[in-house]
Amino acid sequence: MHTLFWLRTDLRAHDNPALAAAARDGTVTALFLAAPGQWKLHGDAPAKVDFWLRNLHALSRDLQALGIPLKLLTVNDWREAPDAIARFCANHGIARVHANAEWGLNERRRDEAVAAALGEADVEWTLHQGGTLLPPGSVLTGKGECYRVYTPYARACREKLRSAPLAAVAAPRPQTPPAWSADALPNRFDGFDPPSDAVRALWPAGEDAAGERLAGFVDEAIESYQGDRDFPSRPGTSCLSPYLAAGVLSAGQALRAAQAANLGELDSGKAGIATWINELLWREFYQHLLAAYPELSMHRPMKPETAHVPWRDAPEDLLAWQEGRTGIPIVDAAMRQLLALGWMHNRLRMVTAMFLSKNLLIDWRLGEAWFMAHLVDGDLAANNGGWQWSASTGADAVPYFRVFNPLSQSRKFDPDGVFLREWLPELAHLPGDAIHDPSPMERAAAGYPAPIVDLAGSRLRALEAFGNLPRA
Ligand code: FAD
Repeated sequence: MHTLFWLRTDLRAHDNPALAAAARDGTVTALFLAAPGQWKLHGDAPAKVDFWLRNLHALSRDLQALGIPLKLLTVNDWREAPDAIARFCANHGIARVHANAEWGLNERRRDEAVAAALGEADVEWTLHQGGTLLPPGSVLTGKGECYRVYTPYARACREKLRSAPLAAVAAPRPQTPPAWSADALPNRFDGFDPPSDAVRALWPAGEDAAGERLAGFVDEAIESYQGDRDFPSRPGTSCLSPYLAAGVLSAGQALRAAQAANLGELDSGKAGIATWINELLWREFYQHLLAAYPELSMHRPMKPETAHVPWRDAPEDLLAWQEGRTGIPIVDAAMRQLLALGWMHNRLRMVTAMFLSKNLLIDWRLGEAWFMAHLVDGDLAANNGGWQWSASTGADAVPYFRVFNPLSQSRKFDPDGVFLREWLPELAHLPGDAIHDPSPMERAAAGYPAPIVDLAGSRLRALEAFGNLPRA
């Protein structure tokens, strides 16, 4: 039987349930459906699309060695997917299609439409769970609902993972290839200009690169993760997020590597490892929420009353935030890191998101979209979750009255100004503590702007805006 393995955000040959199932069924062809119009609609970053494409090149080579040709089809958006997939199956005599589920609403609707089109053509369609540790919908409260609070959710996940440890799915054995060969892949998609070679070099493509990064992190940094992870100038975190978001690395591979270094423990043993596993569970939490609450894919807040926050229409403040010109050094340094690398440290994602949504009182959705437009690891579930957490509109969000002071955060997590000096060269000469909050004279001399907002006053404005909301 000819089967099709439809690749999405699971760009790997190993630990891929859909690929493994396809290979058990018969001769496999792999397919990637490019949808540049859809990516534009989702505001995906050119750096992320470039990362996908570079990983497709690497994966095509790996699949080739297994006798699996990788084909590429291009449509404008997901509305064209049912026809395109059904036609491809008809032209290649394919009787069954395997894919791993994706949880964004547009992707679920796409899959339903594809399933219907394939059903009419008598082609079997099977969705697998390759994107999370545990299938969304399988970790529920006593009332049978999706958890909205992280701590009990994580506890329930750990119980499940302890009682049924995740086994890896092996890559398929080499097979006799079908009659057609792999497609030549392009080096770019129109409308998505690749980043510089220097940025590309930060995120080398392929499962081997992801595996090396994971192994290096586990060998060298995971044990000190708990102490280092909040300091943006230290190499304290894994920088695996683009690989996890594109599925070049599976969450299971990451978890197993961490557990193996922790004698199989999930939440005891080495504190650094247990803390890192918690972050994998935050990823999981947001994926499960996305699957359970379609409104998260529809730009709606998780807490309905926060739809009434009187967000400011302040395009100049928004632009200053986007371009790293707010006059708050830690915010500007972080925003410049995002523009330069397509990645931002987690502590700074929280600081900049809270600054936009609280101090500037600008709609978090504008920030969410800006992050998505620049992040190489942009992921609907994690990005939406992080923004709704920071803006206090989310499921298990920070309480609205706990507003980070960016200057205190700066002094605490970049005490010697190492990160600030790297990203704000115009302030690099300032001695000691001055770099966190330069004086008006120092700003003028350096050509660095005055703060666009008074931190204490804007905090009170946010407290009032949230405090006056109708109670849920
Ligand atoms: P590590 O600290 O090494 O963590 C390991 C992995 O755990 C990460 O690669 C990631 O997959 C996952 N993870 C860690 N923290 C979180 C978290 N808070 N929520 C969900 N997953 C987490 N992460 C994304 O992958 N894509 C996004 O688009 C994204 N947007 C965010 C927006 C905001 C406003 C905030 C506050 C956080 C966002 N995050 C996002 C989560 C987090 O900032 C990044 O996953 C992390 O900085 C990636 O760096 P790392 O790989 O070194 O993480």
